[in-house]
Amino acid sequence: MERSPLSEVHSSLKSGDLLFKCFRCGSCCCGDGYVFVGKDELSGISEILGLRPAEFREKHLELSRGRRRLNGEYDKPCIFFREGEGCLIYEARPRQCRSFPFWLEHMKDPENFAEIAGFCRGVKELVRIKEKEGRDE
Ligand code: SF4
Repeated sequence: MERSPLSEVHSSLKSGDLLFKCFRCGSCCCGDGYVFVGKDELSGISEILGLRPAEFREKHLELSRGRRRLNGEYDKPCIFFREGEGCLIYEARPRQCRSFPFWLEHMKDPENFAEIAGFCRGVKELVRIKEKEGRDE
């Protein structure tokens, strides 16, 4: 059975045969969810913001079931996302953001991955290239 460009991109990303490039479109910053921050990520983010780690913790973090997270609301954009500017802490963004869209739930489930392809510019671009390759063959 012939595979769609989307499923080709999905399996090639899973196997590491395709490189993903983030276009910093901000779509993943604006979906529902919390952003969790590891202990080892505090100093990098604090530095970018020009804060001491203790100040950063005080101003921007809260504890949720023993895990640190940015103190934004579940259904609002990330507190460090600015329209027109994007992520203010991009170079030191947490692993959770850095690893998008390679989250287990997206990699394991083609339906979840199809949803990502609807808004992530990096994935959209890979699908567009695969479609073009298909037309050119
Ligand atoms: S949705 Fe994709 S391209 Fe856009 S910022 Fe997130 S990872 Fe990058």
